[in-house]
Amino acid sequence: CGIVGYIGTNETVSVLLNGLEKLEYRGYDSAGIATLSDRAVNLFKVKGRIQALRDKVGTEGESTIGIGHTRWATHGEPSEENAHPHQSQSGRFTLVHNGVIENYYELRDEYLTDVTLTSETDTEIIVQLIEKKFNETNDVLTAFKNVMSMLKGSYAIGLLDKENPDLIYVSKNKSPLLVGLGDDFNLVASDAIATLKQTNTYLEIEDGEIVLVEKEQVRIQKLDGTTVEREPFIVETDA
Ligand code: GLU
Repeated sequence: CGIVGYIGTNETVSVLLNGLEKLEYRGYDSAGIATLSDRAVNLFKVKGRIQALRDKVGTEGESTIGIGHTRWATHGEPSEENAHPHQSQSGRFTLVHNGVIENYYELRDEYLTDVTLTSETDTEIIVQLIEKKFNETNDVLTAFKNVMSMLKGSYAIGLLDKENPDLIYVSKNKSPLLVGLGDDFNLVASDAIATLKQTNTYLEIEDGEIVLVEKEQVRIQKLDGTTVEREPFIVETDA
């Protein structure tokens, strides 16, 4: 299971697919990517290998922003429907998640009884909740933080908002996730090995932090909005 996200130049699809291939060693049963273009979501998911995903994507979906995922099923069988990314009811929000949401039944029963779920995953609860909170607050960052504070369990999360193709929302708790820094791009990955071809400069993310990843900047903050300053580290490689 793994995550790759990228924002920068028009090579998102290859960065995502190559990155997911590098994360294959972590094990997975299905995979998917989502990119944004012209306020539309290009979504590709398969049960099975990254090569099958590559074949499905073909030459479509190129963009300057996207997220990708390899899934190791914990809730819901391995299938195309249960593969990530998952989308909110209106299609506005698209999300990838590694980990396990322990209180997803409670969250579903308390907040989402009026939402038709399209998968059996714990993950879909997160993205549906984000849309629900967004509808209440009309502010994506507030909704994102709100939902992160409600989750119990482990997660590394990347979120796309169809209405804002300049930003990837990121957070983590007890699941690995790094931010990679570049000159004309930034990215996220479960393991730097996925994206060493792009950059050797990375930022740690601590549990509970919210990260706003844009092409030109990366901002880290705590749930209460406090800004976090962090020095990057260099990954040394022999390759
Ligand atoms: N619990 C999630 C699911 O079953 C994510 C699994 C993973 O980390 O790949 O879909």
